[in-house]
Amino acid sequence: MRKSKLWKKLLGVEYLVFEDGDIVTDRASQEILVFRVRPDHGHRNRCSRCGRRCRYHDSGEGRRRWRALDLGAMRCFLEAGAPRVACPAHGVVVAAVPWARPGSRFTRSFEDQAAWLCAAMNTTRAAELLRTTWRSLQAIITRVVADLAGKTDRLAGLRRIGIDEISYRNTGAAELADTRWAVLKKPGDLTTGQRTTIAALAAINSPLYKAYLMKEQLREIYRSGPDRGKVLLAGLISWCARCRIPEFVAPGRTLRRFRDLIWNTLETGTTNAKTEATNTHLRALTKRAYGFHSPGALIAMASLTRGGLCPPLPGR
Ligand SMILES: [Zn+2]
Repeated sequence: MRKSKLWKKLLGVEYLVFEDGDIVTDRASQEILVFRVRPDHGHRNRCSRCGRRCRYHDSGEGRRRWRALDLGAMRCFLEAGAPRVACPAHGVVVAAVPWARPGSRFTRSFEDQAAWLCAAMNTTRAAELLRTTWRSLQAIITRVVADLAGKTDRLAGLRRIGIDEISYRNTGAAELADTRWAVLKKPGDLTTGQRTTIAALAAINSPLYKAYLMKEQLREIYRSGPDRGKVLLAGLISWCARCRIPEFVAPGRTLRRFRDLIWNTLETGTTNAKTEATNTHLRALTKRAYGFHSPGALIAMASLTRGGLCPPLPGR
């Protein structure tokens, strides 16, 4: 295998010519591997906005380095000229390079791997693994998502739409007291101790026990098929109306008001579980990401993790 082909495979880059490579020390006196490269004939002098082949303008700000995927334990860079071209549509702009997204100091494969890692793990850990900064990762995520959004039809195969809202920078966390766990759990999941708690509840606090049974009936509505579910729902609505527990009278009215919609759910099996799961995920994102300076960064992260815009790992 020719050396150039080998380096391309290892670094996950295409359409370039390898000139030479060397181990040098960077500004922090760390050893790095630098490959001097140039775009191949078909990818020279192209506008970085529209990709059109343009006239060479000047050498711009000279040679640049792009961080590439590590080779083993070694940080690796591509170094090349960054000439400017004159595009009829966009004026004088820096020429595109086939190994990186416009404006980026990282190769496309490095960015794809970084975005994939950010979707899969804590950003701080990803930054440590990749030997880069949180801020760089945020910029990478924004670029990757913008790039993929232009190429991916996210509505392909759409069958249902769920709508829910989430607020940014205003996430008061509701907390459940431990003592409530026993009555909130599914009966089958109760521990022996919790079963004893429920039994004691029946004896000493009959309204709460009644409420417990009503809550279980509500759960059962969704577990049964549509026919039995509708009967159980009608029963629960009238039970709520005469139970004399204020906390259940109001929900009973709500159930009556939304009865038709609940029937729809029973018949079609559609629930808001997915939108709720997405909402929970987004809330976790906002909470762990105080570093997001703008809703835009958060939206990019959400598109990456839940919006189908996570790139595959390089070479897979
Ligand atoms: Zn252009």
